[in-house]
Amino acid sequence: MANVFDVCDLLDRHFPPDTAEAWDSVGLICGDPAATVSRVLFALDPTMEVIHEAIEVRADLVVTHHPLFLTGVHGVSRDTLGGRVVHDAISHGIALFNAHTNADHANPGVSDALAHTLGLVECAPIEPGVTPVTGAGRIGRLPKTLTLAQFAEQVAESLPSTAGGIRVAGDPNRVIDMVAVCGGSGDFLLPLAAALADVYVTSDLKYHRVLDHRQGECALIDASHFATEWPWVLAVAALVHSELGSSVSTLVSAVRTDPWTGHYSSRD
Ligand SMILES: [Zn+2]
Repeated sequence: MANVFDVCDLLDRHFPPDTAEAWDSVGLICGDPAATVSRVLFALDPTMEVIHEAIEVRADLVVTHHPLFLTGVHGVSRDTLGGRVVHDAISHGIALFNAHTNADHANPGVSDALAHTLGLVECAPIEPGVTPVTGAGRIGRLPKTLTLAQFAEQVAESLPSTAGGIRVAGDPNRVIDMVAVCGGSGDFLLPLAAALADVYVTSDLKYHRVLDHRQGECALIDASHFATEWPWVLAVAALVHSELGSSVSTLVSAVRTDPWTGHYSSRD
């Protein structure tokens, strides 16, 4: 039998909470560390839909990447979004845990999962962290060079489909060998990634940064924030399964928490 503490402790060892950014919120959000866990649900965001799914599949613990509360709150009354999540989780005996920037910085972490999904080899951090193998973003090589158009197709095929799809900036015939990736919002790494890679795959790139950057050499692929971090959800579920699989069953959420739900283009 495993309890909430055992799963949290395992995750804390792989994603040390003291490596999270100072502004971040990580760890146990609600729940009793001593409570027994027989089923864990893994998702990217602790939304109401995910909590309802957890109730339905009888999960005792929900592990997400994003926190429920990023800033301080005075209360958790049920008439607030976060409060409803906490109420419904507690009243159904469900604990919530998240690993956010500590999972971004770890190795293997969020960007390793993305790099692996895209087939990159020989990966190293774009911006080194506390150890040479940890840090933000990853840069690696494609086993075989592709054109930007071919690689973009591969990215679209490898990530979960989202309403927004992926956007590309660059010459479709450009040859791609070195690929930089950052799961989640990778705008802050653009200058470093662009100096090292033939293409940078991330999400939430800002218009003016991309516009200015277009003068540069590195192509850009902007995918959904949800899609670039989704591979980590699968990876962390596999991690818990490999270490606690004899006592805990692991389940990956079927809910697409990407808030973007439609995509329209004018026909010209
Ligand atoms: Zn994120």
